[in-house]
Amino acid sequence: MLDLQKFVTTKYGKPIQECSNEELYFALLALTKETSSEKPINNTKKKVYYISAEFLIGKLLSNNLINLGLYDVVKRQLAAAGKDLIEIEELEMEPSLGNGGLGRLAACFVDSIATLGLNGDGIGLNYHYGLFKQVFKDNQQFAEPNEWITPESWLIHSPISYQVPFADFTLTSELYDIDVPGYQQDTKNRLRLFDLASVDGAAIKDGINFDKTDIMKNLTLFLYPDDSDRQGELLRIFQQYFMVSNAAQLIIDEAVAKGSYLHDLADYAVIQINDTHPSMVIPEMIRLLTERGIQFDEAVTIVRSMTAYTNHTILAEALEKWPIDLLEDAVPHLIPIIEELDKRIKAKFDNPAVQIIDESGRVHMAHMDIHYGFSVNGVAALHTEILKSSELRDFYDIYPEKFNNKTNGITFRRWLMHINPRLAHELDDLIGEDYHYDAMQLEKLLSYQDDRAVKIVLEAIKDHNKRKLKSFILKNQGVEINPESIFDVQIKRIHEYKRQQMNALYVIYKYLDIKAGNIPERPITVFFGGKAAPAYTIAQDVIHLILCLSEVIANDPEVSPYLQVVMVENYNVTAASFLIPAADISEQISLASKEASGTGNMKFMLNGALTLGTDDGANVEIHELVGDDNIYIFGKDSQTVIDLYKNNEYVAKDYYQMANIKPLVDFIVSDDMISVGNKERLERLYNELINKDWFMTLLDLSDYIAVKEKMLADYENRDEWLTKVIVNISKAGFFSSDRTIAQYNKDIWKLN
Ligand SMILES: *Cc1c(COP(=O)(O)O)cnc(C)c1O
Repeated sequence: MLDLQKFVTTKYGKPIQECSNEELYFALLALTKETSSEKPINNTKKKVYYISAEFLIGKLLSNNLINLGLYDVVKRQLAAAGKDLIEIEELEMEPSLGNGGLGRLAACFVDSIATLGLNGDGIGLNYHYGLFKQVFKDNQQFAEPNEWITPESWLIHSPISYQVPFADFTLTSELYDIDVPGYQQDTKNRLRLFDLASVDGAAIKDGINFDKTDIMKNLTLFLYPDDSDRQGELLRIFQQYFMVSNAAQLIIDEAVAKGSYLHDLADYAVIQINDTHPSMVIPEMIRLLTERGIQFDEAVTIVRSMTAYTNHTILAEALEKWPIDLLEDAVPHLIPIIEELDKRIKAKFDNPAVQIIDESGRVHMAHMDIHYGFSVNGVAALHTEILKSSELRDFYDIYPEKFNNKTNGITFRRWLMHINPRLAHELDDLIGEDYHYDAMQLEKLLSYQDDRAVKIVLEAIKDHNKRKLKSFILKNQGVEINPESIFDVQIKRIHEYKRQQMNALYVIYKYLDIKAGNIPERPITVFFGGKAAPAYTIAQDVIHLILCLSEVIANDPEVSPYLQVVMVENYNVTAASFLIPAADISEQISLASKEASGTGNMKFMLNGALTLGTDDGANVEIHELVGDDNIYIFGKDSQTVIDLYKNNEYVAKDYYQMANIKPLVDFIVSDDMISVGNKERLERLYNELINKDWFMTLLDLSDYIAVKEKMLADYENRDEWLTKVIVNISKAGFFSSDRTIAQYNKDIWKLN
């Protein structure tokens, strides 16, 4: 039995009572690291390497305590000494190693791989300043370096180091490991983050600008550094190759240490390529194998039998295509290999759409993955169907057997047990703890869907979570919110396809409606959160629109008692952990066909928010599971949208002219807005919406407003609403990443 008092006294020479929260944080960090260091590393023969540019892991203290079975005892012993674990955890810096859903998925996956007792590590880079930190000034987003690495941290310096060759120099890598203890597992896995000792934060000038040419100093400074110029593109290639060359060398070394003679490498290792950033691992692995004496043909066969590719998007601009001359400048030794791989494809297939190197000399990374890997998966049922029937149809015709679906999932350790302990305890009491190991057991909750007493408890938990969010927002942004209001939440990267602008137009609708005298039954608080890529102007404009609306409404005493807009600054896993348990309405309003899966939708459902969404991504599967009565679906379906694009039929102006829509869009450039905002930004967004609107905001706007109004009215029938909440929680088990990982293992990795 853990004796925290003794541990702390040994470390500091004084009892818990006399320690500061900071001292206690570092004591708990040390305790947790020590406990997991005692666990043996999983060392079964075959291992999966999940290579990803991002791992959005979030703070680790509570999660690791939960997984190590120490959470309750630590919390209790701290409380007995008058200390609060939640307050202590606030002192932890959130690792800034990811951007959005793709990185968070990778984090959930490493947790689930360890929890299922499978042998598998995550492999990525140790970005010193990670993704930028978002700050708001003048109702606009500014980017600052996010310094998250402290002298004492979860990183464990490993003696492993490799030589990574580039055109003009060779770099010597360093490796930092973060232990990944699974939930109640005897063994552990690791997150392996490669780095370069010479990287230097002094290379950063104002904001997140830095000298892009000095690779020695900037290689692992930032995740997704600006690539709007050639130097920036080169840096991305340097980062990607550095990541995969280290990965490939590590994979070979670990297999050889276990007895592989390389010809049988695929019996020891399988690589999951998370999106195309790690795609160069294919030619790199071929290069290393041939260097070690294996014939080229056999090397291709080996690599093909051990690499699998996950596609995360159908947005063409997000599929990487590197100009071959750029690759030549950074990694000339890969060029003959990539050319040979391409030559073989061109010899076999006439269709230019499946070539690796196209006519303009660009290397299509996804094409290389599909031809030279054995598996291609989409991340939700609809997404995989769209890949097969349109986006990757030519490839599906060639390799139908490679295509498979793996609907995304989330780890319930973080997204239920950690962020919503009251709900987790209530579930433990009602249905027992089996669902900790088998999430489908949540269905047992269905038998309480008409239970008045359970509904009262769920309502009280939501109320408590709203008050927790209220203090979080007050502390971080100095903004007061009304915990008695309906919490309507849209938190995700800012992107036109996710359509935050449509939600903003609803806010305008509501604002004008209240001005016209229609007072809502209950106040509404609309939360937004999300970062916009610094080079993505329209997304910056959308943030500006939201912040201006927030100010206009707050300054209007006629409306502000009933409607508030809160744009949460620097949305990250920590902010998500306060927002999601407090939400009533989960906004999942992407243009149908564009959101590959989404995982935010799953987190909200699990925490008792109802989905307001399009039939897109995993919303489709949520819809099927809960049925029409327990979800609010609106908008044109994916096939209609795909046809609109194909036939070039959508004309935003036709919708803009409609009597109910025009005043909402015009409000963007009203005097009220321009008085608090930047005219250029607001006008650009306005013009974008009426002249282009590539993601068809106005197409679905009327339907969206109608369904949202219906949802707000339904909220007032608390009994029926809570029945829907119970159904949603009961059906969320399917979205456990333990299920997803079990499927990856059964169909793709086949670990023994
Ligand atoms: C889950 C999560 C995401 C992904 O959200 P989507 O709504 O699926 O885009 C992004 N960022 C953070 C911090 C998350 O926790």
